[in-house]
Amino acid sequence: MTFSAFRILKEGLTGNTGWKPHWRDPAPKQDYDAIIIGGGGHGLSTAYYLAKNHGLTNIAVLEKGYIGSGNIGRNTTIVRANYFLPGNSEFYSHSLKLWEGLESELNYNVMHSQRGLINLFHSDGQRDAFVRRGNSMINQGDDAILLDRDGVRQHLPYLDFDNTRFPIFGGLLHPRGGTARHDAVAWGYARGADQRGVDLIQNCEVTGIDIVDGKVTGVQTTRGAIKAKKVAIIVAGRSGQVAAMAGMRLPIESHVLQAFVTEGLKPIINHVVSFGMGHFYMSQSDKGGLVFGGDIDFYASYASRGNLPMVEHVMEAGMTLMPMSGKARVLRAWGGIMDMTPDGSPIIDKTGIDGLFIDCGWNYGGFKAVPASGWCMAHLMATGQSHDVAKGFRLDRFLTGRGLMDEEGTGSQHNLH
Ligand SMILES: Cc1cc2nc3c(=O)[nH]c(=O)nc-3n(C[C@H](O)[C@H](O)[C@H](O)COP(=O)(O)OP(=O)(O)OC[C@H]3O[C@@H](n4cnc5c(N)ncnc54)[C@H](O)[C@@H]3O)c2cc1C
Repeated sequence: MTFSAFRILKEGLTGNTGWKPHWRDPAPKQDYDAIIIGGGGHGLSTAYYLAKNHGLTNIAVLEKGYIGSGNIGRNTTIVRANYFLPGNSEFYSHSLKLWEGLESELNYNVMHSQRGLINLFHSDGQRDAFVRRGNSMINQGDDAILLDRDGVRQHLPYLDFDNTRFPIFGGLLHPRGGTARHDAVAWGYARGADQRGVDLIQNCEVTGIDIVDGKVTGVQTTRGAIKAKKVAIIVAGRSGQVAAMAGMRLPIESHVLQAFVTEGLKPIINHVVSFGMGHFYMSQSDKGGLVFGGDIDFYASYASRGNLPMVEHVMEAGMTLMPMSGKARVLRAWGGIMDMTPDGSPIIDKTGIDGLFIDCGWNYGGFKAVPASGWCMAHLMATGQSHDVAKGFRLDRFLTGRGLMDEEGTGSQHNLH
């Protein structure tokens, strides 16, 4: 099934009765060439690129809930390529290029909107750090524009520029950054994988990983045992628990991250704006709601809902940056389980068990990574070699101490770095 303006018009005039389910609902087979545990963004994009780029179609994606029930449907939808360090920057740069062609690739409207991302700075020291980051982004082939205070004011006149504690000195504009509709990304990849023969099996929880003589042979699930020579663990916040089924202990902590949406307002914020003196960011959805979030809840948890102290903290940051946002009523808030690594960077690697692969550690930034993660994980599973742009995401960097500390320079425990 493809989408076209003609089809949409025809369905609109005939009561939308001609649409069919976007993917099949197959029963699990006894044996696959490869199994992907986790039907989130990364699991689905891996399945899609395994089929599309490598011709491997005898694959199952096993999802314990429904497609889109995890973080892929819970995030605040920011897409950007503004990393600083080699190892990260080429990966996210590759991802942004894939985003830019994603809608035609999937023939699916993922509402990718390159509205620009502005990271604010509030001191001379922060300005220096953002200048370095901007130069690094430009060297990587991405875009960055340094804005002074007046430059920011032209884009975001409603901010509190003269806040006594956190005056705005300027901002780093990343014009190609923006947002995309999160669950449409999952649906688009799911449909594309299904069309290429991948079995998407929902309500199928993996409860065990079968290993014989150091080789993976399949998985145990709530819908029976399934054999496969290759198994990939791609379960985001549940990575520690699923890896433990194979006897592995990961350098991952699971923490809750919350998001908030207000009632619909007239268009006011044209960009994604992030506050440099606290972990706070905001954009406006196409329906008009202000979409915002902040830091993780500061203690490890598998509860996908947040706590009031962080709600208060996020609201305070929002009011500090944009006082008028205090008049908007918050309609919804929710949480997702973040797979936090000590250095804040991800893992795409083989494991010590033959045929068992892992893709995790996406922290609070894995949505924008969905295309490149799937691309690189598929490459690794099909060829046995790390893709060039994902070579830094090795599991053994936590043994050698060669971490890849980018972003805020923090991982799961901010106070420990
Ligand atoms: C509030 C919030 C805001 C965020 N904002 C952004 C943002 O603006 N930009 C950005 O880039 N990133 C953001 N993120 C991070 C991003 O959403 C995640 O890093 C990314 O979605 C994680 O990968 P995923 O999509 O594969 O995870 P998920 O969608 O969580 O997929 C993992 C899947 O594995 C399944 N699973 C778990 N255990 C099993 C099992 N035993 N058997 C079978 N299936 C299993 C789960 O049900 C789940 O569907 C945010 C996250 C949250 C929660």
